[in-house]
Amino acid sequence: MFNIFELTQKDPKTLQERALKLAEEAGELAQAVLSVTGAPGSGYKNHSLADVREEAVDAAIVALSILAQACSSREEFDTELERFMTLKCAKWREN
Ligand SMILES: [Mg+2]
Repeated sequence: MFNIFELTQKDPKTLQERALKLAEEAGELAQAVLSVTGAPGSGYKNHSLADVREEAVDAAIVALSILAQACSSREEFDTELERFMTLKCAKWREN
């Protein structure tokens, strides 16, 4: 999807660095959500739902790049993404 596998291959980050980057992006997403929902101590940061959307996509891209780095080919990445999305969404649907 959007050449995530190829982009990941061209980016020299290690798997550990990507995992830390995901934690960073999750923090930015949490900050935007806390701000936009007016959580005590966070409302002054003036984030918008546009910020929430952007940070959600940042986190998703980094998570997909971790999947890509854990795969040895574009085909494996596509197959594993489809397989796990199908499996996990089916489990979510059951809940
Ligand atoms: Mg971000």
